[in-house]
Amino acid sequence: MSRPKILRRNFVKKTGQFTLAASAASASSMPSSAKTVTIGNSTETRHVDVLVAGGGFAGVMAAIGARQYDHQVVLIEPHNVLGGQGVAGGVAGFCGDTARVNRPFAELISTLSNYNLIAPYNPNSDRRPYDLEGCAFFLQELVLAKGIYPFLHAQVIDARTDLDGRVCDVLAVAPGKRILYRPKMVIDATGDCFLAHAAGLQTMHEGKNAQLPMSLYFTLWDTGGAVKPFLPQNCPSWEHDEELPMTTLHEFSSGKIEVKMKVIGFDSVDGESLSKAEMHARRQMMGLIYYLQTHGYRGKLYDRYALASVSRQIGIRGSRRIIGEHVLREEELKERTRFNDIVAVGTYHIDYHWPDRLERAGTGITTPLDPYAIPLRSLIAKGSQNLLVAGRCASADQMAMSSMRVMATCAQMGFAAGKAAVQCLDEGLPLSDVSVQKIQTALTNDGQSLNLSQYGEYLKEQRESVQNAK
Ligand SMILES: Cc1cc2nc3c(=O)[nH]c(=O)nc-3n(C[C@H](O)[C@H](O)[C@H](O)COP(=O)(O)OP(=O)(O)OC[C@H]3O[C@@H](n4cnc5c(N)ncnc54)[C@H](O)[C@@H]3O)c2cc1C
Repeated sequence: MSRPKILRRNFVKKTGQFTLAASAASASSMPSSAKTVTIGNSTETRHVDVLVAGGGFAGVMAAIGARQYDHQVVLIEPHNVLGGQGVAGGVAGFCGDTARVNRPFAELISTLSNYNLIAPYNPNSDRRPYDLEGCAFFLQELVLAKGIYPFLHAQVIDARTDLDGRVCDVLAVAPGKRILYRPKMVIDATGDCFLAHAAGLQTMHEGKNAQLPMSLYFTLWDTGGAVKPFLPQNCPSWEHDEELPMTTLHEFSSGKIEVKMKVIGFDSVDGESLSKAEMHARRQMMGLIYYLQTHGYRGKLYDRYALASVSRQIGIRGSRRIIGEHVLREEELKERTRFNDIVAVGTYHIDYHWPDRLERAGTGITTPLDPYAIPLRSLIAKGSQNLLVAGRCASADQMAMSSMRVMATCAQMGFAAGKAAVQCLDEGLPLSDVSVQKIQTALTNDGQSLNLSQYGEYLKEQRESVQNAK
């Protein structure tokens, strides 16, 4: 049957794709099925009110905060689930005061509590464990209930700033899709300010052996009988507990064991280094499992336990951060500096981890802090009129971020960024001129208190005991 002829230029116009017909010469070196190579997809342009890049706790709360008065909000996330480090990275416990975050966060906690998927609130415990997959599911349901349809398996790959200092184009890709977004407001919650960096804004980054170290989470299950330990080639071995990479084991009543294992020597914002980190971590994990099965750990032998699951990605504590209108400093946290543009409250202590020491050598510097203020200016990319940056890539020095990076605080920063974006849209003003007071009112009306004295209960005993010891 003869097929109608399609001119190449019409084909390109019709499909928007660039198709190269392989020449006879090159085709001879290819398998016969690969005579046509398709490069790229058509690029579709979409205008949106608010674009949020990253579906971790900061991004999810940013999208919810921005979803007001039918503003069109797009939430872009490369993983197949929301939650970021809190799900894909395997971190299954909230630090920071979970009793005082904001209304949407309280809705999530209440649902998780109703289904017994989270530990009860205990102000004297610094971490509140939750069921990881349960949290992933109900986080998704929370977002959908707010009228936001997250775009999973999608990622921002480029961004451009115009001469007025506005991020005007954001290019995202997903299987079969290539979308050029033209957003009015942009929130970068990618954890490493990927978008801001791509748009040419100033960022800071400590790099390999200086950024906070990564850790891999995995779980073991009780097989009910003795397992046959094996140590694959290229995997490390150890003789004593003290030589191990820093390891934390958490035993659940179900018999499942969660293991957190430190990994050092890689740079999370360098794709090739991150790729190596994942593979290195898997080898280290196999060595550690062998050790647990054959030597045990802290006096307990795990000879009935086998690997059950590994987190979707290695856990990343610290990476690139934005240089904002204000770079929050460790001293400002310690001194509880007052900011007129306060939009979030940090409640966690400084939790620094030695970047270049693999073995357990104390976790690093752990300095108790009273609740402190986070200003809006630390969420605004320096010189930008429409770009907010929230979560662990907000504007702070490394020590300050060692406290701010916990999920309760990221959730507050994200929600504040979302409300700030809405306020800019409502007033038709750039970030530099927006009414901070109106943002603060919107936040407090939605349960995000900006009154430091309302946060004092969490970890009070620990803070007092440290003060008394001085
Ligand atoms: C080992 C470890 C243990 C920790 N323990 C705790 C703990 O016990 N309690 C606690 O509260 N916190 C803990 N933290 C810190 C906390 O989990 C994170 O700092 C926090 O979840 C960060 O949230 P975020 O939304 O800012 O960033 P992330 O959770 O990193 O989210 C960023 C999201 O952006 C997406 N993204 C990346 N690039 C792009 C792109 N180009 N386009 C679109 N999206 C993109 C990512 O896929 C990700 O989902 C721990 C962290 C680690 C690594």
